Formats: sequence, C-alpha cells, structure tokens
Amino acid sequence: MLVIGAGISGLSAAFTALRAGVQVTVLEAGPTTGGKARSSHEHGYTLDWGPNGFLTNVSDTVELAAAVGLRDALLPAAAAAERRYLYWDGDLRPIPSSPGSFLRTDLLSPPGKLRALTEVLYARSVKREESVQGFITRHFGYEAARVFAGPFVQGISAGDPRQLSLDAMFPRLRQLEASHGSLLRGLAAARKVALAGAPQRSTGRLTSFRDGGVQRLVDALTAELGDRVRTGTVVTKIRHAPGREGSSGAVVELASGETHTTERLVIATPAFVTADLLEALAPAASAALRAVRYVDVHVLGFGFDRIDVPYPLDGFGFLVPRGQKVRILGGLWSSVLFPDQAPEGKLGMRVLAGGALDPGFSDLSDDEAVTVARRDLEVTMGIVTDPEYQRVIRWQRGIPQFELGHRERIESARAALALALPGARLAGNYLDGVGINDAVRTARAAARSLLPLTPDIP
Ligand SMILES: Cc1cc2nc3c(=O)[nH]c(=O)nc-3n(C[C@H](O)[C@H](O)[C@H](O)COP(=O)(O)OP(=O)(O)OC[C@H]3O[C@@H](n4cnc5c(N)ncnc54)[C@H](O)[C@@H]3O)c2cc1C
Repeated sequence: MLVIGAGISGLSAAFTALRAGVQVTVLEAGPTTGGKARSSHEHGYTLDWGPNGFLTNVSDTVELAAAVGLRDALLPAAAAAERRYLYWDGDLRPIPSSPGSFLRTDLLSPPGKLRALTEVLYARSVKREESVQGFITRHFGYEAARVFAGPFVQGISAGDPRQLSLDAMFPRLRQLEASHGSLLRGLAAARKVALAGAPQRSTGRLTSFRDGGVQRLVDALTAELGDRVRTGTVVTKIRHAPGREGSSGAVVELASGETHTTERLVIATPAFVTADLLEALAPAASAALRAVRYVDVHVLGFGFDRIDVPYPLDGFGFLVPRGQKVRILGGLWSSVLFPDQAPEGKLGMRVLAGGALDPGFSDLSDDEAVTVARRDLEVTMGIVTDPEYQRVIRWQRGIPQFELGHRERIESARAALALALPGARLAGNYLDGVGINDAVRTARAAARSLLPLTPDIP
C-alpha cells in the first residue's frame, strides 16, 4: 500500500496496513512526520503547535495510542478543564454548563434567557441544511446565537458560524432535533437514559500524553513504521498506469522524477493538495475538493510567571466572541490542563488568532502578532509583564471549513475517485470531521477498505 502524507491521517492509515501485515510506504513532503500534530519543548514549556489533545467520547485515538504502547502515557486534562470562559462586555464570564448557571449568567439579558429557555415552544424538526448560526438562532433566539454561535465553532475550526454547515459539523445535533424536535428535550432524554445506566455519548474528556504532548503519538507511530516513511518526498501527480484507465493501478509521480506504481493508495494530504494531485486523473473529484475552503490560523505560545497573572486560572481558558474589541480568538491555559507542560509556578498558554473572520492576521509580522496578542491578554486577563517564553506558529490554510454544501462536495469527490481509480481512498480531517479522532477514524477505515480481509486491527 502507498500512503501520501504523514500527518496523523497518513500515519494511522499506514499503521493499520502494517498491523495487517501489508507492505506499506509513506511519502511525506515535509522534513518531519505529524503534519499539524507537533509539539516543541523549550525552556521547560511544552507547546502543541496544532492539536493539544483529543476527546475520549469516542475510542479511535485511545485505541491507536494503546496499540503503539502509549496507554500508560495518556493524560486526561485536569477536572478544571470543564470550566470555560467567554470574554464578554469587559470581563471573563463562565460559560453556563447547567440550568442553574444558565439562570445566573449575565451573558444574556432576561428576555434573551427566557427565549433560550423556552426553546421547546419554538423548536421543530427541519430537513434542509442550515448554518450553525441559523440553527442556534432558530432554537435559542437571536441573542443566544450572537453570544454563543461564534465561540461554539471558533475553538474547533476558527470558522464563521454563518458559513459553516450544522449538518456537516454537528450531525448529532441534527439527529437530536429529528428525534425530539427540541434540543433541550433531546438532551434531557439523553440524561435520563444515562441516569438509568444505559451507555450514552458523553462529551468525553480532553486527553493528551504525559511528558511531551501530542508529539508522543506521532513519534510512536513513526517509530513503528520505521524506514517505511520517506520524508522530504513531494508527490506531484497521480495518474493511471498506462493502458489501465478505470483499473486500480496508479502511478504516483514525485518531484524528484521518481515514480511508484501501486494497486492500493491512500491519499492523506489536505484537500487542496489532493485536488492538485488528482487534477488530470479525476477532474470531478479534484474540482469538488478544491471547493473545500481552508483558513489560516495562528498559535502563539507564551510562558508567564504565575505571580504575574492576576487571574484565578481555574479552567480551560477563554474564547472571545467577535465584536468585543479583542482581536484574538481565545486563550488556552495549557499548563492548567496539563501541569507537566510548564515548569513549577509558571503558566504555559496558547493564544489562537486569525481564522475565517480575521484573514488579515496573516499579514502581521511575528512581532506585530505578539504585540496584538499581548495587548489582548492585558485586556482579558490583566497580564502586563513580559512573557519569559514566546513562540509564533503560523498555519497557512491550516483548518478546513465544513461550509454549507460540504457533505455533497465530499460525497461527489469520493464517488468520482472511486470511478476513476477504484484502488484509491481519501483520508484527512477535511472529510468527516476536523479533529484528530475523526482523522484517525476516517484514515483507518480507508486503509481497512483496501485490505483483503478486514480484521479487527487498529
Ligand atoms: C491550530 C490547530 C489546533 C487544533 N486543535 C485540535 C485539537 O485540540 N483537537 C483535535 O482533535 N484536533 C485539533 N486540530 C485538528 C488536527 O490538527 C487535525 O485533525 C489533524 O492533525 C489532521 O491531520 P491530517 O493528517 O489529516 O492532516 P495534516 O496534519 O495536514 O497532514 C497532511 C500531511 O500531508 C503532507 N503533504 C502535503 N502535501 C504533500 C505532497 N504533495 N506530498 C507528500 N506529502 C504532502 C503534509 O506535509 C502533512 O504532513 C487542530 C488543528 C490546528 C491547525
């Protein structure tokens, strides 16, 4: 099997083939493996450049971690992670997580709360695709949508809730609506089932790895694959083996001029790269994938002395709805979640900036980006001292956007590829979900579907 791209998706697909005893080669353009999943360690701080963990409500990543010997290294986030804040009207305010805290919150006016709490009177099941903003407005009212819709998607995809598809991003909410009409009624029913002891989907616990962050998963997968991974290997084109159009035989061309022929191919590159690779071979698939938009996103890592942080630090961090005169999207208190990510007595944190609603952030120099972030940390958290550590990570076209029409685009890309090259599969976090769990699940399924048998292997 040939796998293109050694991000979490490509590594997961290749590991599945390896475990099935199938010969596999992974071609990775960059100098290292892992793609967006990467962590650095400087001055005692661990900084996750992209993902900082995954949720344990589904088993995909946990199973993979166990299969590469990392079960004991799994590190659930501190219980405080459940508490999250919004910066709203000049203050960090807890996001309500229970009916009682919803009644007490000052994030909404009394009429806004009343409208949200009477959702059951307005709710009805809708069949057509809807934006995240539209869905929340319809269920909980305009005011709740203005406050919560942005943050709801900001931390996942740095996206615009008016453009993102509820159905592609949160299919479970659509299912709840279909079965109960009202989301509040649906959630209450789910809670009742849970209390009765039946298994239910919880939101899971954010989990990383001790002593190294998400990099440990990448390192363990890379070590398992050994010299089957070839870094610094740019793939430029996929075409049919001569005279074998419509068959599963593919020729993969490299920038070096070298070619590889394969019957089983997993393409685990971002959608826009995959679109280029498939342009000649499967133009319809290529066009559908090119329409998947990506946004630039930036991670700024900071390390502060805790004494210089005049804030209780009793949670996950905070998100900032737009329109609050703060430019950053939010701040994550990494070493509160994972205490081994900063030296004793220090705060390691990540600031997220850019995204769909602030494309101009990419034009800032690193110094300008740090200046903006530090001004915003002063406004939101009252930090005025210099950080003892800082680092700017830029992800150009870093996060795919599941915009309206996404599911049809992906379906038609898969169908067109299946016709053109039956032995090829797509993998990547632009397909079925943006997070690591989704990337791992899709990639493992892609690899398994190319194996002669489908044994129960990770
Ligand atoms: C800032 C940020 C924060 C995130 N936070 C979280 C989080 O907390 N939790 C979570 O679950 N998810 C998070 N994510 C999403 C998570 O990072 C992704 O789901 C996952 O890493 C995607 O992996 P992938 O392998 O599909 O893609 P990528 O990581 O993009 O890998 C694609 C690989 O293909 C290679 N490639 C590209 N072109 C070629 C070519 N021509 N030839 C060969 N190789 C090529 C690339 O070099 C790369 O290694 C975050 C993402 C970002 C950017």
